[in-house]
Amino acid sequence: SESMLTDHERRKQISVRGIAQVENVSNIKKAFNRHLHFSIIKDRNVATPRDYYFALANTVRDHLVSRWIRTQQYYYEKDPKRVYYLSLEFYMGRTLSNTMMNIGIQATVDEALYQLGLDIEELQEIEEDAGLGNGGLGRLAACFLDSMATLGLPAYGYGLRYEYGIFKQLIRDGWQMEEPDDWLRFGNPWEKARPEYMLPVNFFGKVVKDEDGKSKWVDTQVVFAMPYDTPVPGYHNNVVNTLRLWSAKAENHFHLKFFNDGDYVQAVMDRNLSENITRVLYPNDNMFIGKELRLKQQYFLVAATLQDIIRRFKSSKYGSREAVRADFSTFPDKVAIQLNDTHPSIGIPEMMRLLIDVENLTWEEAYDVCTKTYAYTNHTLLPEALERWPVSMLEQMLPRHLEIIYQINQQFMEAVGKKYPGDFDRMRRMSIVEEADGHGEKRINMAHLCIVASHAVNGVAALHSDLLMTQTFRDFHEFYPGKFQNKTNGITPRRWLLLSNPALADVICERIGDTWITNLDELKQLKALDNNAQLLDQIRRVKQENKMRVAQYLADEYKVEINPSSIFDIHVKRIHEYKRQLLNILHVIALYNRIKANPNIKMVPRTMIYGGKAAPGYHMAKQIIKLITSVGNVVNNDPIVGDKLKVVYLENYRVSMAEKIIPAADLSEQISTAGTEASGTGNMKFMLNGGLTIGTLDGANVEMAEEMGNENIFIFGMNVEEVEALGKRGYKAEEFINKSPALKQIVEQIEAGFFTPEQPDALRDLANNIVHHDRFMVCADFDGYVACQDKVAETYADQQKWCKMALHNIASTGKFSTDRTIAEYAREIWGIEPGETKLAAPYEEAS
Ligand code: PLP
Repeated sequence: SESMLTDHERRKQISVRGIAQVENVSNIKKAFNRHLHFSIIKDRNVATPRDYYFALANTVRDHLVSRWIRTQQYYYEKDPKRVYYLSLEFYMGRTLSNTMMNIGIQATVDEALYQLGLDIEELQEIEEDAGLGNGGLGRLAACFLDSMATLGLPAYGYGLRYEYGIFKQLIRDGWQMEEPDDWLRFGNPWEKARPEYMLPVNFFGKVVKDEDGKSKWVDTQVVFAMPYDTPVPGYHNNVVNTLRLWSAKAENHFHLKFFNDGDYVQAVMDRNLSENITRVLYPNDNMFIGKELRLKQQYFLVAATLQDIIRRFKSSKYGSREAVRADFSTFPDKVAIQLNDTHPSIGIPEMMRLLIDVENLTWEEAYDVCTKTYAYTNHTLLPEALERWPVSMLEQMLPRHLEIIYQINQQFMEAVGKKYPGDFDRMRRMSIVEEADGHGEKRINMAHLCIVASHAVNGVAALHSDLLMTQTFRDFHEFYPGKFQNKTNGITPRRWLLLSNPALADVICERIGDTWITNLDELKQLKALDNNAQLLDQIRRVKQENKMRVAQYLADEYKVEINPSSIFDIHVKRIHEYKRQLLNILHVIALYNRIKANPNIKMVPRTMIYGGKAAPGYHMAKQIIKLITSVGNVVNNDPIVGDKLKVVYLENYRVSMAEKIIPAADLSEQISTAGTEASGTGNMKFMLNGGLTIGTLDGANVEMAEEMGNENIFIFGMNVEEVEALGKRGYKAEEFINKSPALKQIVEQIEAGFFTPEQPDALRDLANNIVHHDRFMVCADFDGYVACQDKVAETYADQQKWCKMALHNIASTGKFSTDRTIAEYAREIWGIEPGETKLAAPYEEAS
């Protein structure tokens, strides 16, 4: 009987057995009601739409829990090699609908909510985006998590739980304004705090040597890292991985000195100082800002993460009775760490420190483990984006790490010197420690550190990787042939087609079934149907419906009437000079001038749609926004223009807006100066949704053109070699302006303040930049761009041809699934085989 049982036996009642409910409509309705009652504590008389959203989110979350626990148990038992993706950014967007889709309960939940008289789409709109990223780099990390879970990889994302994500953009009087993104205000139903796994992180202090000459880092200030876990479900495989985000918590006896002085209240208030570490995401995309707080964030992430990784390594089972695994020589067989850019690169000296100072490995052993464990992804060639931390800052904040970096560099310089005796210029170029600059500041080049101390370095598109090897890191490629790889970026077809464009997904499924969802290459079967008039018409109609929906949204939000049969010409991404939104708006001005010169001109109507945030301190990017909105004011209010041309600036472009806008695009603008955009992933999203691309031979555009054939994409402008040659010769905007009457007129209009009559010198800096300081050679590509846009319009007039091109775009996207990207990382960098792991559903017996 009960009383005869030991505690151990009684505790077997603490079990999830029987808890997981079959996912049917009646169970979902019950769970929803229970959550409204017990979790939200409301009844239907007082519940707001947000309450219903939270009740629904909790209901859906319940269906993740058993899958999540089981997946983690499975990893613990199998003890496979684990992958750790370290990133300062995870641009996740919304979670609710993605979760329902991936675990396959969307239809059931739709029906349950319908029966309850609730509008699920309205509830979905209430969810705040998790805007913990700036742009492509952060969104890539999010797509990677989806693919890693879908491929059943034992993978973890590690990042920071910023209290404020990317700022909310407002457009006021045509200028960008910023507001804090208080995304956690109403609580986050997708995270679980784990205060019991809090870990200490040290800063400042000094290094002392003990009797045996070992280094010890002492007199530090401590901040705690509190983990928050978010589930990452794979698609229809019952795998749920973990994204662990750290939040800064002050130590409890912080500023004890003040306690003794009696200023207890001040001491409590000062807790904010350490907790500021994870307060806010730095809003810079492709730009290094050498702020101390940013370095603290980077170290905070890796210090907490590495403790966690080592703890998990030590405690995993690996078919042995030993409670603790102590032999670190097997560490690289069990752990792969991928660095998303150099942002987490201070993790390299941190791992060296832990292995040497704490785990008592020799330098050589530690260095071997380190290089075998780490791999580094480079995301940009722009020199202003490469991280080079001042030595003085590291010396203060992380003195032991600086010591280790110096030692790595010394050993590396010796090796370089041995291979190239007497080549001191090469040694200077390759050094991790850069000589003092004009301000007398010595710096640590974090990319050099990563290349030296990782076993693999990759670029993110074929062209980008080639440029890394032949230009930016040429010396390193020569020194380490075989270390450099390419891993072309991708996007997850789950969020970016199945979820965001269900009508198109249906059309595809009707023709080729649904296995393309996890094997995107299968879309190429559609190529054989490119003369199927019915299919082409279905694709055209889906696009038209998506455009109508966006037109309605624009009418509601911006009070602009747009012509749904016009070309939706869309340029959405971060605002940056290299991305050349400026080139695009110059073309719009050219069209406007054509209309003004000839009001009866026949032209294919266009709706120009822009969206994107400028870094708050990026003056030129903010000027570009103002130019676009000002041109919009003039164009949209000129009766001569009619519905031939409209210009819309979307406020606060973000992941959830991308999901609405991209499916409605006819034309995708991917027009960066050749050699500047590492890959782009926005480009792939449009292609997957049947939008045609106008673009330069830059980043992944090159591979997109290869996959679909040049006849299905509008390529214009200088290639990398031509950009280089022009740079060598000396780019002078005026040469191009004087050769092009249309361009000359436009530049004169901007200089004269034509588009900002209320303040004619508002865009003076921009005008000056175009003519005298433009690093990205906008004027050199202007004529080619306009000619190419004319070809776009001509092609659009032939809807038959256009639809066929759209079909070939969709059918050629196989390569650009992150499933392919991740499978390549797994095999060629991490040394693991992506499987088709499928676990049992919670209400089934465990497999
Ligand atoms: N911002 C958001 C919200 C996105 O969804 C994406 C998608 O890739 C990007 C930025 C990156 O765009 P691009 O590759 O065009 O710079």
